[in-house]
Parts: sequence; C-alpha cells; structure tokens
Amino acid sequence: MGHEVGGTVVEVGDDVDIEIGTEIVLNPLVACEECSCCEESKYNLCRDLQVIGAQRPGAYAERVTAPASNVVPLPDGVSPQAAAVSEPVTVAFHAVMQSPLRDGHSVAVIGLGPIGLGLVQLVKAAGAGPIFASGHREARRELAAECGADVVIDPRETDPIEQIRSKTDGGVDVAFEMAGRESALNDAINATKPGGHTTLVGVFEDDVEIDPMDLVNNERSVNASAAYRTGPHADRDFSAVLEKFATGEIDHEPLVTSRIGLEDIVDDGFEALANADSGEVKVLVQP
Ligand SMILES: [Zn+2]
Repeated sequence: MGHEVGGTVVEVGDDVDIEIGTEIVLNPLVACEECSCCEESKYNLCRDLQVIGAQRPGAYAERVTAPASNVVPLPDGVSPQAAAVSEPVTVAFHAVMQSPLRDGHSVAVIGLGPIGLGLVQLVKAAGAGPIFASGHREARRELAAECGADVVIDPRETDPIEQIRSKTDGGVDVAFEMAGRESALNDAINATKPGGHTTLVGVFEDDVEIDPMDLVNNERSVNASAAYRTGPHADRDFSAVLEKFATGEIDHEPLVTSRIGLEDIVDDGFEALANADSGEVKVLVQP
C-alpha cells in the first residue's frame, strides 16, 4: 500500500530525462493509454487503471518504482513531506474543477476527512463564501474552521439543512459530498438552493437512496469527480496544487496530525486513523 508519495529520485531507466536527486511527488494513477477513455484523453477514467499502492507495489517502503510520466517535480519551497499531502488536496482540486464553483458562491462541504479539509482551503482561496463544513469528528470540525470554514456543523447535534438554509438565501450554490454516506449525500443535495449543484467525491460502499423528484422539481444538478488528471496529463492537477503549496495559498500543516516511522504504521497509523477519538487526520510515514 501507499499511494500518497513524496520523495527523491535515486535511479532512472534508460532514456528517462529526470535528474537523480530531483525531489518529486508521484501521481499514483497509471493509465493504459489505449482504452476508449484514454483515447478521449480522460485518463483518470481509464478502463484498465492501475494504482501505485493498489495494483502496483506502493510506497510504504524505502523505494518505489513508477513510470517516468507519473513523476511530478516539486516547485521550490515544497518538501517531499509536504508533497505527500498534495495527493488528497489534488483530489479536492479536481472536484472543484468539475463543479461550477465561482468566486462569491456559497458552499457546503459535507464530510471532513483530509480531502474535505483540503477542499475547504481551496474554495476559500477561490473566493467562495460563506463556507459551511459538516462532519462528525470534533477535531476535524476545529481544523475545518482553521482551514477557512465560516460555519462548522455537527450533523448529530444540529440539522445541517436547517442551519444552512437559515444562513443563506434558501441554500448554497454548490455542495460537495466528501463522506460516501447516504445521510451526507442527502445533506449535500438538500443544502443546495433550487437550481444548486452537488459534486460527489466520497467513496460509497453501499447503495444509497435519494429523492429524484427533489432534483427534478428544483432543477438541482449532481455530478461526480474521480481522482485527478493522469497519463500524459499526470502533472497538471498536481502542479496546480503544488504551486498553491509553494505560494502558501494552501497550508498542508493542519492536515498532518502525526509523523511516524514505517515500523509504527499499524498501531500509530491504521489503528489510530480508524479510532474516531484519536483526532488524527493525516499520519505522515517516513520510511
Ligand atoms: Zn486506458
């Protein structure tokens, strides 16, 4: 495993034009570049997509191999440690690009994992507001406020729909579903105003129910965002995010809650993240 990877190039294959010692981030999505989606340049939708850290050996290791086209050099001022955190933020960046978000739009972010928190920072930097952020874990709601959310909501304490509608003109312009849960999806859709839009980013494990007539009667729209651009475009979304890291527009520090060695990854990584009370968001592993 391990698909959020910053590091230093130590060896290259023949005909690879990357200098040894270059500090880089890996785009972990390896597209086949032959299927119908790849032919349409929709490489993130590749029918035979392989992921470094899933179908290919991952980066919970001292060294990992990757195609040269998946290597994205870091701009000055961005460390490989920071770059490892750029992966979830790049998922958020792609989602913002897939949404109709514009300067001045009101936004609801439902689900406050690392991608949701990165998204709060991105929409803030894009001039959106007010930003409502809803999530179950207290530590993450506090981080959402730190990342720029104007109103944070515990959906178990307060009805997010009521709160968002009362503080806007009947709902937000754009909502993002970042949790992969039925309740979060319905909260996101219902948080939008008539004619509003919801972009799905969360990973759903089960079928969910929504009310399609609510979409029809209110002309609410829904679309979805999958990871980020890759293949011959592997550097594009990543470079845009890394540039925001370099300028300070995005601060990765609030997302990193612990730094550990590879030998502690089970107890202090996986177990800690599975425990809702741990307060962990991103655990940075340094092999
Ligand atoms: Zn393909």
